[in-house]
Amino acid sequence: MDPWTYNTIIEPFRIKAVEPIPFLQPEERHAALVRAGYNLFKLLAQEVTIDLLTDSGTGSMSAHQWAALMEGDESYAGSRSFQDLDAVVKRITGFPHVLPVHQGRAAERIIAHTVLPAGSVVLNNTHFDTTRANIEQAGATAVDLPVPIAMEPSHSAPFKGDMDIDALDRALLEYRDRVALVMLTLTNNAAGGQPVSMANIEAVSQRCRAREIPFFLDAARYAENAWFIRRREPGYGDWSVPAIARRMFDLADGCTVSAKKDGIVNIGGLLCTRLDDWAEKFANDLILGEGYTTYGGLAGRDLAAMAVGLDEALDPDYLRYRERSIAYFAKGLTQVGVPIVQPAGGHAVFIDAGALVPHIPADQFPGQSVANALYLEGGIRGVEIGSLMFPNAKLQLVRLAVPRRVYTQSHIDYVIEVAQAVVRKAAELPGYRVVKEPPFLRHFTVDLAPI
Ligand SMILES: *Cc1c(COP(=O)(O)O)cnc(C)c1O
Repeated sequence: MDPWTYNTIIEPFRIKAVEPIPFLQPEERHAALVRAGYNLFKLLAQEVTIDLLTDSGTGSMSAHQWAALMEGDESYAGSRSFQDLDAVVKRITGFPHVLPVHQGRAAERIIAHTVLPAGSVVLNNTHFDTTRANIEQAGATAVDLPVPIAMEPSHSAPFKGDMDIDALDRALLEYRDRVALVMLTLTNNAAGGQPVSMANIEAVSQRCRAREIPFFLDAARYAENAWFIRRREPGYGDWSVPAIARRMFDLADGCTVSAKKDGIVNIGGLLCTRLDDWAEKFANDLILGEGYTTYGGLAGRDLAAMAVGLDEALDPDYLRYRERSIAYFAKGLTQVGVPIVQPAGGHAVFIDAGALVPHIPADQFPGQSVANALYLEGGIRGVEIGSLMFPNAKLQLVRLAVPRRVYTQSHIDYVIEVAQAVVRKAAELPGYRVVKEPPFLRHFTVDLAPI
């Protein structure tokens, strides 16, 4: 039998190096949370048993990546490690200009510095927060155009990450020559990690080409997005994952990549394009901020690990495991009565805290209440994505992001069991009030108190 036809999801790796995880008693967790001002960002790593704060830079490298690290060439210019990375990225994306950067936002900053004049407009399905911040810093405007269904947590549709094409047409008419760039974020992280269909990428590409507007992908999760196209979009079931990824990139003029996601490295990123004039501007700006064009703020060994990780993420057994393990997590939570955003995304499960603790009003942070309860109950760290992070948030969510190749199915079973205990106490969970907050991005450092 094909191992994937059995119900048990086996991790497609065995473990060769282990890292102990901390076990705390309830009173120790309570003391830690009080000290942290009821803000999970301010916990120490050794106070967290299962850390689902983010999937960014938290993945496990493979033996092959660790071996590549030792082979890293630390030459300042033209290192072998850069040549290897350049060849891998050209094979996967087809883009002739490949610039390494230290992480995704460095690529965004370079774009904002060089090709986004003040007053220009960038259109995107949904800008990731650092992308938006870099665009606004340049005096440009970031406009989100998600499909309306993205805002309905209980509605299951295969490609809730798509851009709203009618809204794109209207925006192109409204902003005309001010549109300097159109982007698609794959998968759509800020809208629940939902994938974007090939049909949608094609529709956006066609409009941009007709108007000669550059079109870039934010391709942090290129492999997960390609996998969902193969699994969910008619006509792609027998395509290889690299062929789907290549078709996505072929439709665009360039990409920004945080390699801390599907690159499966702890640090790294890329800025690629087929536009010669933009590539020259990018390279000049990169030298100002990141280093030389063949290392981009990274060590040679980081480039080497990235070159391997970018390929490993396209392995269908790895991607099938990733999809199935997140779906398993989502199903387990649903079975114990936790309302979640449907369908399960590619890198995380989002709890609909607004539905779980309806007695807590939005200005008392229902998501933070549920996130804190998960920590107090079992040492699990998630992140509130609701009115604490975004004061005008429409949805009150808790994101449980799953690091790549880090936790096993029994870790996830434990999280589900802890979540069940939280569901039993849901009606008694307190709201929170702000004790002290900074002027911006308050969720990182705010102090809270239960009401
Ligand atoms: C993480 C991320 C970024 C920013 O990348 P960093 O490596 O954190 O700087 C940009 N876009 C998306 C979609 C991301 O998930």
